[in-house]
Amino acid sequence: MQPIDPNNETAHSFVVLGASGRLATQKVFPALWALYRDNRLPQGTRIFTFSRTKLHTRTYRLTCAPYMNLDPERDPQKFNSFWLTVHCVQGQYDQAEDYAALTEAMILQERKHNQIYANRIFYLALPPIVFDHVTTNLSRKCKSSTGCTRIVVEKPFARNDLTYRPYQTALCQMFKESQIYMIDHFLSKQISQNLFGLRFGNLLWSGTLNNRHVAAVMITVKCEKPVKARAEYFNFFGIIRDVMTNHMMQLLALVAMDKPYSNTIDDLRNERLKLFKEVTTANMGDVIIGQYRNNRMESDPDKVGYTEHSYIPKDSMTPTFAMVVLHINNRRWSGVPFILRAGRALNDTKTEVRIQYKSAECDEGNNEELEIRNELVLRVAPFEEIFMRLRLKQPGEELCLKETALNLRVDERNTKYMPNYNSLILDLFKGNQSMFMRTDEQCEIWRIFSPILQSIDLDRPKPLPYDFGSRGPLLAYRKAERVGFVFF
Ligand code: NDP
Repeated sequence: MQPIDPNNETAHSFVVLGASGRLATQKVFPALWALYRDNRLPQGTRIFTFSRTKLHTRTYRLTCAPYMNLDPERDPQKFNSFWLTVHCVQGQYDQAEDYAALTEAMILQERKHNQIYANRIFYLALPPIVFDHVTTNLSRKCKSSTGCTRIVVEKPFARNDLTYRPYQTALCQMFKESQIYMIDHFLSKQISQNLFGLRFGNLLWSGTLNNRHVAAVMITVKCEKPVKARAEYFNFFGIIRDVMTNHMMQLLALVAMDKPYSNTIDDLRNERLKLFKEVTTANMGDVIIGQYRNNRMESDPDKVGYTEHSYIPKDSMTPTFAMVVLHINNRRWSGVPFILRAGRALNDTKTEVRIQYKSAECDEGNNEELEIRNELVLRVAPFEEIFMRLRLKQPGEELCLKETALNLRVDERNTKYMPNYNSLILDLFKGNQSMFMRTDEQCEIWRIFSPILQSIDLDRPKPLPYDFGSRGPLLAYRKAERVGFVFF
């Protein structure tokens, strides 16, 4: 594989802002370490932490180590040398002089090796509250004058279309679109990327993924765990903003978008944007929201209702479950409901896309007994796998059909799911934006969801209660059936 900087002419600084936090210690640093260990980072990359907390590499490495999957036989020496590339800078997010100190620290390292260019990547592992100060100061004090500057922003990308507009304007005034990386780790998953190959590389599917053949598409992010970590964040944003307006819409785009004109980043992003523009704006009639309550059948003291957690306000109306039915107004998908279903404290943990085909019997009198619909299922978590539900003849003399699953990735079945920041971080070094959202894409997503989010914020409708560990509110399932999905 061609190294990122084969002539070693460029100094690379990777700055993690908010390095003391969970995202930095549990995801970003482990990914940087894995890339370093496998010699995937450009030669001479230096990593900087920037935080209000005073960090020392000596102790910070102990904080990160449990998440780094270390091999005691193979890694110790390399692990030590990794930490020699890390430099800690302490600073306040609103103090311009602290950013000047960060730049001095970068320049000091950049000059050490007499490289001609300096690329700088700034990863904002920070809560949105400090976003304005950080972007302004980075733009004024830290941009590279001899190489690329890239800024990585994490969800939540504002709260709705109204708050996103100033967010987008400020970001785009300070940085060019080519410098902005809106990260969504779902897009790094093999299966998400495989969806593309599957759809456009196989006539079998490219010819059937349309409203002539597909009855409904359901995209699911279910989680058994209650809201615990990052509870304050969750309670403020709710399930729709947490997973639907980002991860799930990315999956929807991969299922529904047309083939990009070419493989260039712009064509890919243009095609995604076109698809988002074709999704009709949702209203309260398209959504069912729920909130988990104590399951009286369970004796487990941890399985309490959402508002019974000590860290959640007793009168919280934040949805912990939502089902939203979206429609795409184009020739390919018109009439096919795209059902987004997400929730916490449910009966199962899984992320998947389920494309449900029309039943063969529909045209022949709708014999319900035989109504088994083919389904193409792309499972993202807990395991990445692709399978197809089919009907085959049962062994024996009778002509009797039986449902069976055709696994399309037998060899890679049960590949352990691992949140994968590695490939996205590598893309940051390469300047490959194809797996990152463009700011106008998020704008369209907010247009789709803002009316329901605003109604939920302003009118505070009471979410339907559902038992901890159940499938969620029954009404949601009735709704999915009403719009054309069949549960088997
Ligand atoms: P944390 O709450 O752990 O915060 C990160 C760091 O930001 C803290 O260590 C602290 O650093 C600083 N910080 C926290 N609160 C404030 C504040 N009020 N004012 C100034 N600085 C503050 O967040 P995470 O690491 O969990 O997440 C960071 C960002 O990434 C968030 O926007 C989150 O939504 C997003 N994200 C996180 C994911 C995760 O798995 N954790 C997943 C997807 C997105 P210090 O005080 O040392 O400067």
